[in-house]
Amino acid sequence: MRPTQVSIPSFVRTKPGALDRLGIYASRHKHERVCVVASEGMVPSLLERACTSLREQGATRVDHVEASDASFESVGNLLAGLPSDCQAVIGLGGGKALDVAKYLAHLSKKAYYAVPTSLSNDGFCSPQSSLTLKGRRVSLSASLPFAVVVDTAVCLAAPETLWLSGVGDLIAKITAEFDWKLAYRQKGEPVDDLAVLLSDATVNQFLASPTKDQAGAKLLATSLLLNGIAMEISGSSRPASGSEHLISHALDQLSKRPRLHGLQVGVATYLVSRLQRSGTERIAQVLDQTSFWQAIQDDPFDRQEWLAAIKLAPTIKSDRFTILSTRDCVSEVASIINEDSRLKLCFV
Ligand SMILES: [Zn+2]
Repeated sequence: MRPTQVSIPSFVRTKPGALDRLGIYASRHKHERVCVVASEGMVPSLLERACTSLREQGATRVDHVEASDASFESVGNLLAGLPSDCQAVIGLGGGKALDVAKYLAHLSKKAYYAVPTSLSNDGFCSPQSSLTLKGRRVSLSASLPFAVVVDTAVCLAAPETLWLSGVGDLIAKITAEFDWKLAYRQKGEPVDDLAVLLSDATVNQFLASPTKDQAGAKLLATSLLLNGIAMEISGSSRPASGSEHLISHALDQLSKRPRLHGLQVGVATYLVSRLQRSGTERIAQVLDQTSFWQAIQDDPFDRQEWLAAIKLAPTIKSDRFTILSTRDCVSEVASIINEDSRLKLCFV
């Protein structure tokens, strides 16, 4: 069901050097007292560049804190210490810092600037924060950012696997859409057509040119961002998350060594497309054009863990009908992994 009110970013910059212009962007919106929430252990020069830019452009106070863990409890502590006259929260770095900053801004009703330093998943502009609560992972509703600032040069300089993870999270929209339409046909779950169109358009744009360069980074950032908006307008994570995400969530629970979200999701997307008997060539095409398979083969997954995840996945969100709800897929997946020329090298 579409929410009665949607809030979407009103300021978006995706270009090289955007990090050094953060102060210009903040001062343009009269945000002079800001709190920067940075990833623990992030490259110090990135934090310095952000803070220098803010100070040079007239920010009168720039507090900065490190997000050591993405827990609800640490958001609570930050909230208690947040100066009452702070006007904006800036999330700088990877997943944890952005999840913490997004939820801190949401609770304190401050303007939120998402400044990802890699494009490893769509979380920088999604309407949820993935946090832990008493040690259990929970996904909490949060407002979308007021501003999204992506320095494409910074994101391109991030490790290759983060980029590939972002590609994996993006192609998941193909199988997620299939699952959503399947749930409509079999269970009458309503589909938001505009959200689907938006999702489709973004994936197709990137698929047409999946290069790792400035143009590709702009496309990947925009595609991931617009997917967050598709979730916001549909009031559901359906446009971005289907059976492939359930498998990844199951792996996060049972794997001895869970991997990057988008690497798990990317392999699961390809695998699930074989179960759906749809979209496999489109998905393979983009993964073949990047070094995605090589990255997985260099550090293969555990076959038994994946089979256990396939079994667990349909129970993760009991109200989410997907291809995994239609039949017991474990033996089918086992034989796909054994015979598929791409997949068989990805597992030990
Ligand atoms: Zn995802």
